[in-house]
Amino acid sequence: MRRRSLLIGAASVTALSACRERRGRVWTAQVPPAPLPHQPAPLATAPPPEALPLGDGRTPTFTPAAYAEHVAALEQRLASLGVGVLSMRVEDPFVVAGDDAPDALAVRSRVVRWASDMLEKGFFDRRPGRILDVFLFRSAASYERGVRLLTGDGPWTPFGFYSSEHGGLFMNISTGGGTLVHEIVHPYVEADFEGAPAWLNEGLGSLFEQSGERGGEIVGYTNWRLRGLQAAIVKGKVPSFRTLCSMSHRKFYDGDPDVNYGQSRYLMYYLQETGLLRSFYKSARAAKKKDATGYATLVATLGKPDMAEFQKRWTEYVLSLRFDG
Ligand SMILES: [Zn+2]
Repeated sequence: MRRRSLLIGAASVTALSACRERRGRVWTAQVPPAPLPHQPAPLATAPPPEALPLGDGRTPTFTPAAYAEHVAALEQRLASLGVGVLSMRVEDPFVVAGDDAPDALAVRSRVVRWASDMLEKGFFDRRPGRILDVFLFRSAASYERGVRLLTGDGPWTPFGFYSSEHGGLFMNISTGGGTLVHEIVHPYVEADFEGAPAWLNEGLGSLFEQSGERGGEIVGYTNWRLRGLQAAIVKGKVPSFRTLCSMSHRKFYDGDPDVNYGQSRYLMYYLQETGLLRSFYKSARAAKKKDATGYATLVATLGKPDMAEFQKRWTEYVLSLRFDG
């Protein structure tokens, strides 16, 4: 099957942490820095969204009347906040709103449709329990302005974020569709795996920020986080998996997020490539009360190896990976 990639601006330089957990349950992509002048321009967002398949036979989560009511309330809110008129369309369970013309928004929205369908198929039994907005702003300036008007605060990442508090995803879509897929993971995890540990939530989100299809399933590909993780491995700065799994949200996001995101992502990548990721996710979800960190489930999924030995093998595996973006 032809490989499709969803790429974020793939500057392969040391990651800059722009991730915060603020105002309650808010997750952001930990984002790559802007490319340095001597670097090649970031890759444009592939896929051509019009090439993405749409899900069929989907049972809508909410009724047409609920969507109509939601859209009317959103239009009123946008007007009263001075955001102006946005194009809108329903991509269940989301309302996608953007400052592009309706036909351009329809093309961009296909990433939302594709990611939702593929993630539901592969991982999630529950959809978000309320209609969430996906704001797709077409430029850095309109993103900055829109976020400020809609949330009362400026964005802390130039790419995009999910805010549970504000009921939506806020994206600077000119930077590509990868962050959008990453952020779509979060409301699904919120609905499907309440209380998921940070490493699992961000590992899964960041795995799919560069993704495509293999055998009809969504798969993550190597991406820009690899180089930073490989450097951290060489410097001996990567913690044990027990330590990673047991990190509180605060420690995960505020400690050394570059390493934490990278380690989580490439543990998920390893599980994916060994055919264990889906069963791991479902087992961890089922065991969340007795194994809140997911560590015991991870060990069991791996076949109860000596975890120090496993980490050595995983380290060698990660050092053997390549990303040419
Ligand atoms: Zn995230």
